[in-house]
This record gives sequence, structure tokens and C-alpha cells, in this order.
Amino acid sequence: MSQLFQLQCPQCRRYFGNGPLTICEECFSPLEMSYDLSSIGRLIDRATIESRPQNIWRYAELLPVAAEHRSGLPVGFTPLLAAPTLARRLGVDGLYLKNDSVCFPTLSFKDRVVAVALAQARAFGFEVVGCASTGNLANSVAAQAARLGLEAWIFVPSDLEPAKLLATAVYGAHLVRVDGTYDQVNRLCAEIAETRRWGLVNVNLRNYYAEGSKTVAYEIAEQLGWRLPDNVVVPMAGGAQITRIAKGFSELVELGLVPQSPVRIFGAQAAGCSPITTAAQQGVLEIVPQQPATICHSLAIGNPADGYRALQVIAASDGFAEDATDDEIIRGIRMLAETEGVFGETAAGVTVAAAGKLIRDGRIKRGETTVLCITGNGLKTTDALVADLPFEPALAPKLAAFEASLDRLAVPA
Ligand SMILES: *Cc1c(COP(=O)(O)O)cnc(C)c1O
Ligand SMILES: [Zn+2]
Repeated sequence: MSQLFQLQCPQCRRYFGNGPLTICEECFSPLEMSYDLSSIGRLIDRATIESRPQNIWRYAELLPVAAEHRSGLPVGFTPLLAAPTLARRLGVDGLYLKNDSVCFPTLSFKDRVVAVALAQARAFGFEVVGCASTGNLANSVAAQAARLGLEAWIFVPSDLEPAKLLATAVYGAHLVRVDGTYDQVNRLCAEIAETRRWGLVNVNLRNYYAEGSKTVAYEIAEQLGWRLPDNVVVPMAGGAQITRIAKGFSELVELGLVPQSPVRIFGAQAAGCSPITTAAQQGVLEIVPQQPATICHSLAIGNPADGYRALQVIAASDGFAEDATDDEIIRGIRMLAETEGVFGETAAGVTVAAAGKLIRDGRIKRGETTVLCITGNGLKTTDALVADLPFEPALAPKLAAFEASLDRLAVPA
């Protein structure tokens, strides 16, 4: 390979260089990003990485961006928090939260994937960028496009949370609400990418976008002191994140940056949209698309682009997948907030609820190190909690009124 990374067909092994391509024209397989890891291994070691600023660009050699790429955006390197109180509540130990609910700049893990995709959008000469989104991607593309001076067109299902719509429009992006499901929005975007010279981050730039997720794996390993966890629990929508986290761990082993050790990869979905979890639980590698009906809009993809690969990494790692009903999602959000002071969005509720089931069933055990991926911020999905956390009536500003209401107010919602 003449460059450190390029697109390759996993089927016929043909190389395609770099560009906004997704499918092998010979055998119609989805292309994959491949790296010249032996050359990369000569460029980086632990000390080099540790000497760099704490953001995703410290792993630049392992990302599909030009060596000279310099981003002004300090994306990623979010906290890895020990979660002893949540662990005790769930009946396990060794639990950590990878807290992407505070990722810069838009408070979700999507900031990682967008940073990588937009770096290449510019390199490929796109002046207009966009995406099909379930919410968080919309926020991140809009924000980062504004920063880079790119025009942004964002397509979303019309039923998204108001906070996610507002937090897209505020950046001056063109926000197109589509009367349909995410899968219909995505199909529309695929057609748009064929007719216009637009860089749609999760459509024609998808191979670059998806690779940004590997940085979650790199950071987890580095923050654990350059070792791999025993288990990760990852919320799944299209399945890009879970597959690239697995890829990231493998690359670190191959480069000798961490000792080899098995990582079980666990997936989590909402019960109201669980095409990947359903197949994983049936032990099959075939996805049957679903019509989403869940409060967890961020994970509501009925026909996941990386679903097949997600099933493969879950099976190959001896992992599993679990789902969570709307009630379990709400309880998961509240448990995470009450035990560890982290307010995650509905996807976090899914992850916590799924982890509870994996622990209950003995798939995650005491004495193991387990990382829960908290991928988005609860302030964007407060609608899901409004009915569950009603306000008390306002009090007269009198001590007597306070004393008279004390018993009632002392009971938590
Ligand atoms: C998009 C998203 C995911 C899942 O990402 P995929 O790579 O599509 O599986 C998880 N959590 C949140 C909060 C998201 O916005
Ligand atoms: Zn091919």
C-alpha cells in the first residue's frame, strides 16, 4: 500500500484508494477502511501518543485523515469514570462509564465520527455537507460544519425531540424534517448523494465517518492504563460504533500497544427497535428490518447499515445483545443519574438496563472490568422523563409553608 490507509473490498481484496465510495463495483460488497499497520507501528508508540493533546487527534495515524491534518477542534478524550455505586446496585464490580455525554462540541459520541468525516469532506472538495440523522448526528454535523465554514443540509425524521431539532437549527444549518422513518430519510439521502456533489457523512462518506468510532476503544484502553477491558456494553443504532470499537481494540493488540486479551462485545437496543438484538438472541446473522416504536429516537434505525457486521463482532467475541423497554429505559436513566451523577440520554438508559440484564444472567461477572458506553446527554431528551418526574406545586415563600409541606417534599419522585 502506498498510503497508510485506503478503501478495500473485503470480498475481492481490491483497493480503491480514497474517495466518497461505499460499494465495490466488482462484487457489490460494502468497502472497508484498511490500514498499513506495520508502517503505522513504526510511527507511534505509547509515549508518543501520551505526549499529544488529549483529544481524538492523538491517534491521527490510526484514523483515515491526512498525516498533515490539523484540526482546531478538541473532540473526544471524554472521562472514563469508575462507577462503584451503580456497580453495587447492579450486583457486580469493576464497572466504568465511558462518558461521551460530555463530548465536545455537541455532547454525544457523534462528535468523533463527524470530526473524521468532515476532515475528509474538505479533502475531497465538498463545499456542502449533510447527513441523515436520528438527532445527535444532526447536532454534530451542524456545529462542526459551522465551525469549518461549510454549508450543511440535515435530514431527520419529523418526530425527533424538540431539543435535538433546535440544537441543529441554531448553527444555521438547513434542517429538513421528513415525514417518515429514519430508514426512509436515509434512502432519500442516498438518492441526493447520487444527484448532487454533497458530502453526506453517513452516506457517501460513511467509511470515514464510521472509523471515528474507533477512538472510543483507543481511549478506553489508554485510560485503563494500556490494557483492554473484559467487557464493553455499546448501544446500537446503525451498528457502526460497536463494530469499530471492536476493530479499534484489535488494532491496538496488533500494534503491540496493549497486551492481547479477549474483550466480550455486548450490544444494547431499545425493545421498540431491536433488529440487531433480536437476531443476536436468535443466534442468526440475518437482520429482519423493524418499524421503530420507542422513546429512544437516537437508536431508532429499523434497517441498520452495519447490522450484519455488528452480529459478527458480537458472535466472534462471545458476546451477546439485550434490549430495554421504554419503562426500563427511564429507570436506567434515573439509576445512572442517582448513583453516579451522570445524566445520560435515552440511549444511556438502554445501555444501563441492558447491562443490568447481562449481569443478572451471569454474562458479566464479578472480578471483570466492564465499560458501559454512555453516548449522549440527558438534557437533549428530557421529554422522555417529564411524566416520570412531575414538579411539586410551588410553595408560598414562608417558613411555615415549608414546614407544613416537609413530609410530602421529603419523598423523592
Ligand atoms: C448514533 C448513536 C448511537 C449508535 O450509533 P451507531 O454507530 O449508529 O450504532 C448510540 N448512542 C447515541 C446517543 C447515538 O446518537
Ligand atoms: Zn469486491
